[in-house]
Amino acid sequence: MINIETIRKDFPILQREVYGKPLVYLDNAATTQKPRCVVESITNEYYSVNANVHRGVHFLSQQATELHEGSRKTVQRFINARSSNEIIFTRGTTESINLLAFCFGEVFCEEGDEIIISVMEHHSNIVPWQLLAARKGVTIKVVPINEKGELLMEDYKALFSERTKLVSLTHVSNVLGTINPVKKIIAIAHEHNVPVLIDGAQSVPHMKVDVQDLDVEFYAFSAHKVYGPTGVGVLYGKEAWLDKLPPYQGGGEMIQHVSFEKTTFNELPFKFEAGTPDYIGTTALAVALDYVSKIGMDEIAAYENELTTYAMNRLKTVKGMRIFGESSQKGSVISFLVGDIHHLDMGTLLDRLGIAVRTGHHCAQPLMQSLGIEGTVRASFAFYNTKKEVDALVAGIERVSKMF
Ligand code: PLP
Repeated sequence: MINIETIRKDFPILQREVYGKPLVYLDNAATTQKPRCVVESITNEYYSVNANVHRGVHFLSQQATELHEGSRKTVQRFINARSSNEIIFTRGTTESINLLAFCFGEVFCEEGDEIIISVMEHHSNIVPWQLLAARKGVTIKVVPINEKGELLMEDYKALFSERTKLVSLTHVSNVLGTINPVKKIIAIAHEHNVPVLIDGAQSVPHMKVDVQDLDVEFYAFSAHKVYGPTGVGVLYGKEAWLDKLPPYQGGGEMIQHVSFEKTTFNELPFKFEAGTPDYIGTTALAVALDYVSKIGMDEIAAYENELTTYAMNRLKTVKGMRIFGESSQKGSVISFLVGDIHHLDMGTLLDRLGIAVRTGHHCAQPLMQSLGIEGTVRASFAFYNTKKEVDALVAGIERVSKMF
């Protein structure tokens, strides 16, 4: 059971006011707030352990290295990877996907090959493939959605051809909230011997993810969306696949030996981690993952599900409410428009009431185009949000509606 009172005390920012009103933070899909233990991990490490990792014989460097490599093991356990060699630290989901698009494209893609994505992808799971398309001449094929915001599985199956090289889909939509049936999606791709990358930016913070159970080749997520620091992310990859890929960037750490005649590359995971990593950030990520693990990912999922269902029911009572994304499998993201009130006006006026929501296209312009709209208002919940905050949102929307 989630003890909301105790949990909220762990997040100092939730106690603050904006415009003299208690903060109602409903922009968790963009980034989550940080518990005290995560912030303290950052200051403590800078104050008492800071030294560059891997390269030093001295005490501090070894201690910092132990923390950094220990974090890799924490991430491995958190997503149930087979080995910590399969955990590549990056700057975030965006860099994880770019890394894969570049490295995979280098060895496995030729002109005329095909990559499958979907219409509900974030720009970070579209543009890297477009860059690959420009570089290598691959074609991008797009899975459409139905009116509830669910992937059309028959259309997905029909997109495969002899030239399909990779499927890259989001686990949870950052606009519609749809939780895609990724296990089924992966199994279908495997019937065609096609590997899969799942964008887990919106799933890892909200549900238990087991990469071995999913049998997925690659999985990406960001620390800052799972209560960790900004600037850190993860690319999980099956060892056999990562071994086949060339390095992404060159520099220190990713080499075994460098000479002007011939340079050899380091083993996994270091082959993909050129330069000084954000070792302070990786430690803080591990602290964040331990924090949510202690609460329990299943408990978090159940609580957020209850909160989202409550919010959906309450929002539907508002006159002129249009909700985008009504899948029965829905995460804690609700996108909406009310009457003909512009999303920016709604967001700005809610802000004045202390309610933080996001407005706009949410880095999903092709999805907006397919919905025939410019943007939405998006409320997204975390386990520290309450029904009282949902009530404040609904009251706020009603107040704004009356003004128009
Ligand atoms: N993918 C999805 C589904 C997202 O929601 C986001 C961020 O909102 C990203 C990718 C990009 O994450 P980041 O900006 O942390 O790299």
